[in-house]
Amino acid sequence: MSTTTTPAATVPVCPRCRSNTTEVRSVSPVAGVWTVFGCDTCFYTWRSTEGEQNTNPDKYPEVFRLEPQNLPKLQVAPSIPPLRQTKP
Ligand SMILES: [Zn+2]
Repeated sequence: MSTTTTPAATVPVCPRCRSNTTEVRSVSPVAGVWTVFGCDTCFYTWRSTEGEQNTNPDKYPEVFRLEPQNLPKLQVAPSIPPLRQTKP
């Protein structure tokens, strides 16, 4: 029986928050073309074939980087209000 397990060492650190709580979310239907990774700390998700500014922690735009310890302090997005009952 052959298995195609991926060693954990190939899972990259998160480009946005640099945590190592990342995992493979999906792989291409044709094996080896692309892999989608996701971060369980900041929920950033990226595809292996994206440019380095989306996949490489050192090239990821500084202004969009997140510090895991600051995540609880981020503003909560307001919820969507109830829909109007009447049409305008
Ligand atoms: Zn992250």
